Amino acid sequence: MTTIISRKAWGARAPRNRYTVTWAQRTEFFVHHTAGPKTQTIQQIQAFHMGPSRGWSDIGYGHLVDADGKIYEGRGWLVVGAHCPGHNRSGESVAYIGDDDPTPAAKRSIRWLYDEACRRAGKKLKMLGHGQRYATSCPGPKLQAWVNAGMPVEAAEKPAKPAPKPQPTETEAIVKKLPTLKQGDHGWHVKTMHYLLAARDYAVPAEVDDTTFTEQHTNGVKGIQAAAGLKETGVVDGPTWAALLRVA
Ligand SMILES: [Zn+2]
Repeated sequence: MTTIISRKAWGARAPRNRYTVTWAQRTEFFVHHTAGPKTQTIQQIQAFHMGPSRGWSDIGYGHLVDADGKIYEGRGWLVVGAHCPGHNRSGESVAYIGDDDPTPAAKRSIRWLYDEACRRAGKKLKMLGHGQRYATSCPGPKLQAWVNAGMPVEAAEKPAKPAPKPQPTETEAIVKKLPTLKQGDHGWHVKTMHYLLAARDYAVPAEVDDTTFTEQHTNGVKGIQAAAGLKETGVVDGPTWAALLRVA
């Protein structure tokens, strides 16, 4: 959830004066940068704007966003700003705290402020970089190109992938391929069963043909089934194959 760090929360100094407009008067949304280091604090920016070199009544911008995407209330919504001559009444404003190196998190927050301003205004505000209405390099080529592109943002988190289909275990996969066997059957699968019985201590005497399902095999299978808690049918079905294959 996106939140705005209020003036009270960051300890803003009171403005020397304050004028407001209505959303009907707001038609634009300006993007700026502070052109300073990313580490500059909101308090330092306010002190600079209210100090002797600027002498403004308050911090210049409506809102500010840092590299982590944290949003600070500057003058706030609908307060006449000091960010772009001739547009301080018509334009909401946000400043990125940094130079020409906007982070994805900062862009997401700037875009969130734009969407929020439009929502409050009940109309689309014109997206503008400071330099589009005043002779300045602000907000820098990267942010300006991003504004020109319509402030696209990627979601902070990729939407969750659908849960992967459960993969059958190796044993289940093998069992699926094995036919049901019963006394009298012949073939390669009978041989598999023959040696699995031996491995599980239900060895059928060596002289017995290992490719034919004999009565001895039936007895061995019933033994495996009894040990596994299965019905003693003597028929090697899926669960019986699983019991034969289980390494325990
Ligand atoms: Zn600017």
